[in-house]
Amino acid sequence: MQKLLDGIRDFHHRVRPAYRERFAHLALGQSPDCLFVACSDSRVVPNLFASTDPGDLFVLRNVGNVVPPHGAANDADGSAGAAVEFATLSLQVRDIVVCGHSNCGAMRALATGEVPEGAANLRRWLANGAPSVRRLVAEPRLDPSLPEPDRLSQAHVLEQLDHLRSYPAVAERVAAGELRLHAWWFDLTHAQVLAHNAPGGNFVPLVDLLERS
Ligand SMILES: [Zn+2]
Repeated sequence: MQKLLDGIRDFHHRVRPAYRERFAHLALGQSPDCLFVACSDSRVVPNLFASTDPGDLFVLRNVGNVVPPHGAANDADGSAGAAVEFATLSLQVRDIVVCGHSNCGAMRALATGEVPEGAANLRRWLANGAPSVRRLVAEPRLDPSLPEPDRLSQAHVLEQLDHLRSYPAVAERVAAGELRLHAWWFDLTHAQVLAHNAPGGNFVPLVDLLERS
């Protein structure tokens, strides 16, 4: 907690002056062009690895970067679905990124079925990942050198894109060419963002795809 409080002090004295004008402008409204879905994991920091500023990303974070399908019973409070609908219908984002990551505790729990004693909510939430476990079998081109939880995490990202398409607002805008869906994966060990490479069926460094195009 002390690091957090020191950070608040540092922001106030050192960083805030450079951002005051930007925040004053942002106070009038937001118009991010991307919904970014990521895990709650402390090591996944989208604003850092995507070099984005305040106002750039509308972010949905939860345990395991889960997007329950439209109307799913396991999205009991509807918060994930609400974020998807707000981003697509109100903010009219042009892109949705679902970004998984390596060494994900949620994916490890999903792969092993082991959750802490008494974590009934966590167990129920992770049930949203059951289709991803089946999806892993259907994605044989994922990197076989990765540990199973990491391959499951990549299959899970692909599965979440299908879940996104179950939202009428998403499906309609994708069909109209107004919205694109992206599957990304952050490799913690190499501090590198990978993206799903549809022709190869695997994940490759995103910078390679960008520099090839
Ligand atoms: Zn995670």
